[in-house]
This record gives sequence, structure tokens and C-alpha cells, in this order.
Amino acid sequence: MLWDTPPVESSSRALLEQSLPTEKARLYAVSTKESGAWLNALPVSTLGNRLDDNSFKISVGLRLGAKLCETHICRCGTKVDSTVRHGLACKHSAGGHSRHDALNDIIHRALTSCQVHNVREPNGLMHDGNMRPDGLTLVPWYQGKALAWDVAVVDTLAQTYLQGSTNQVGYTANQAEEKKRKYEELEGRYLFCPVGFETYGVFGNEARELVEKIGKKVAARTGKPRSLSFLKQKISIGN
Ligand SMILES: [Zn+2]
Repeated sequence: MLWDTPPVESSSRALLEQSLPTEKARLYAVSTKESGAWLNALPVSTLGNRLDDNSFKISVGLRLGAKLCETHICRCGTKVDSTVRHGLACKHSAGGHSRHDALNDIIHRALTSCQVHNVREPNGLMHDGNMRPDGLTLVPWYQGKALAWDVAVVDTLAQTYLQGSTNQVGYTANQAEEKKRKYEELEGRYLFCPVGFETYGVFGNEARELVEKIGKKVAARTGKPRSLSFLKQKISIGN
């Protein structure tokens, strides 16, 4: 409702002004449409859109900064406070890998659904045999070149980028995309796209551009105009 916009904006400003940097970064991130897109998804199990009660509770609680558990010591030795945010950043957490894998799978399936056949983790593309991007299209994507992509999921509240995250939404995701320049030798032969996502649901600039292109392509191929929204919801759940 338009009439309650001014008081809501004023409360939001007051909240941001009195918040510590970490909370400020969280509030900025969760105020983006991308971060809340999962709440609009239809909870259908066959579409992979249904979250169990616990995942739902944790996803909402993390965004609200609510108390979710008792304080304890993580097996990495760090003290975990009641917001359980440490789980988003800890090296021992399984969440980081599954999130990375889920997001790659969503990109892979979305491309496949618009007949852009592609493979995950292609070998032999780089001089360093140990390095490979997360995916490669087997058909040209743009300007006659195939698309190679690599996903990074980074914690919105990571201390290293906290200063930037309190000033600019998506700062951490954009920094993660910037770090993917190690794949720049792919440029020329392929179109390389770094795809940065943050734990609180924000997209990096390159990720947003790619998701929009894929979503529009799916819409054109399937005739379903809401394909882009559905894709964003799926990514938001995967995140
Ligand atoms: Zn830990």
C-alpha cells in the first residue's frame, strides 16, 4: 500500500542508522528482491521448491537476525553465537558445497531446458590441468562463442568485505566475481562468466546479467513468460 510507504521507509532508515556494521550489511542484503524471491515460490516438492520446516525456520531466522540456537563452540574452534551465522562461513560446514552444487545444477538445467546443451566441470580447457570452470555450453552462446561459467558463493557478512557490504549491496558477490579473473585465459576462445552469489541471497552483477539472459531464453523457448521469475526463485531457494 502506498500510504504506508513513508512510515516503513522511516523505520527502515532508523533501523539502519542504529545498526552495527554486520547488521547493516545483513539488512541491506535482505532488502533486495533477489534475497526474498524464494518466499514467492510455490512449495511443490516435484519442482524441488519445498523446504522442510527446519530449513524454512533457519532461512527466515538468518535473514531476521533471530536467535536460532544456544551459543557453543564449532569444531573449527570458533565460538558460534545464537544467530548461527558462523555456519555460512565455516570451512567445516557442508552447506557451502551443497549450495555451490545446487546453484550449478540450476544453471545447467535452465540452459538445457532452452536447448543450450552443456556439461558440468569440463576438463582440458586450461593450461593448468587442475583448473576447470564449473560448466561449459557445447553450442555457441553469444557471438559464436560457447559460454564457460564458474560459480562462487560467498558470505555476505565476511569480515574481509564487511566495510564494502555496509556501503554497497552485492559488494561481496562482485568481489568474488572479480577474483574469478584467474580464468581469464578462457577469454577469446570462450565467453567466460564469473557467477557470484551471496549467502544472504544477493547476486553479483555478472550473475544477475547471466540469469536474466538465461531466463529470457527459457521464456522464448517455452512460451512461459514467468520463466525468469521462476528461475530467480529457484536460485533463491538453492542459495
Ligand atoms: Zn566452524
